[in-house]
Amino acid sequence: MFLVPLITCICSFYFLSVRKFAQDRIAPLVKAMDAESKMDSSVIQGLFELGLMGIEVDPKYGGTGASFFSSILAIEELAKVDPSVSVLCDVQNTLITTLFQRLGTEEQKETYLTRLCKDTVGSFCLSEAGSGSDAFSLKTTAQKHKDYYVINGSKMWISNSEHAGVFLVMANADVSAGYRGITCFIVPKETEGFHIGKKEDKLGLRASSTCALTFDNVKVPGSNVLGSLGLGYKYAIGMLNEGRIGIAAQMVGLAQGCFDNTIPYTKQRIQFGKRIFDFQGMQHQISHVATQLEAARLLTYNAARLKEAGRPFKKEACMAKYLASEVAGATTSKCLEWMGGVGFTKDYPIEKYYRDAKIGTIYEGTSNIQLSTIAKFIDQEY
Ligand SMILES: Cc1cc2nc3c(=O)[nH]c(=O)nc-3n(C[C@H](O)[C@H](O)[C@H](O)COP(=O)(O)OP(=O)(O)OC[C@H]3O[C@@H](n4cnc5c(N)ncnc54)[C@H](O)[C@@H]3O)c2cc1C
Repeated sequence: MFLVPLITCICSFYFLSVRKFAQDRIAPLVKAMDAESKMDSSVIQGLFELGLMGIEVDPKYGGTGASFFSSILAIEELAKVDPSVSVLCDVQNTLITTLFQRLGTEEQKETYLTRLCKDTVGSFCLSEAGSGSDAFSLKTTAQKHKDYYVINGSKMWISNSEHAGVFLVMANADVSAGYRGITCFIVPKETEGFHIGKKEDKLGLRASSTCALTFDNVKVPGSNVLGSLGLGYKYAIGMLNEGRIGIAAQMVGLAQGCFDNTIPYTKQRIQFGKRIFDFQGMQHQISHVATQLEAARLLTYNAARLKEAGRPFKKEACMAKYLASEVAGATTSKCLEWMGGVGFTKDYPIEKYYRDAKIGTIYEGTSNIQLSTIAKFIDQEY
């Protein structure tokens, strides 16, 4: 009887502490981090201190022991202030710690999960120069020698890699088996032959590091295989299905943050003797955007709810990511217009949200890939 109010109370407390952290400790740094293309180390430290880097991890490994939905709310809340910080939290929670928690041996969990909850950032390494949407045509190989593997190849676009200490690397351990040879390897940063390369100079999400990686005869013990040999493709698909809900939450938060920074301006700015908010032409656009944003949020929460309940959620996750990315693009574009000339300058945060929004249509499966997956489900249903 008291369970629902209790859970609501815990969630509200959690949500408010993330909001406070974002406003007090991230907001003052956002502009400089974007300009310098660098994440401030105090932000990463704060995420660890607040338990936001192991949200779903069992407390026995130092995690917060909260739900998938809590991760989604945290990702959304952080994105309202800085989508770059949000993606750091997103990758750590929806991809890295989840993979360790689900597939890790007790020893791997003791070694890595504890560090991932305490002070170590993780990166998820699937994409390569020649394999993006067609991810499983990857060329990085892992050759077996006695009780160890030797990894050779390269990765591209790896988020958070500048700060990461542990890398989950998809490499083919049996090329003759095609994509069924793809295996997930744990590669610690300090491993010999492993290099973190050039940081991309990006349009948006600039404080989030995105680097190329190279593997030059990187030797890892057999005990660094995460899960089963040859099932890496399955793990990657599974994780990205969940990860898409995280990106949808990031896009919803980004759009909301942009909207929240814009509407007060429309209520202060006077033209033709009245607030620009009072023109019907403005009100209809504002209401349309607010409605779209609410629809994207509900689609995202619904996908998270289905996932958490153990029900089919893949189609809904694709729909949520697709719609939330479209809505984030449209919202930030409209907000910029509603601000007039000042929206186009760096004096206001709107142009940054506009730049940051574009990535939603690209990573963790482009919008076309989401639409193709949705169509596969529709094809099966009729
Ligand atoms: C900032 C950033 C961070 C990233 N972080 C990571 C990360 O941490 N880890 C990681 O592994 N990867 C990461 N990526 C890679 C990202 O997932 C890929 O960029 C994405 O999957 C698209 O691949 P691509 O860039 O090779 O584009 P391509 O696959 O070459 O696609 C180019 C265009 O062709 C279209 N297209 C391709 N195939 C089809 C098709 N079958 N039907 C219709 N249209 C199609 C696409 O929709 C797109 O419009 C990141 C990328 C960026 C930009």
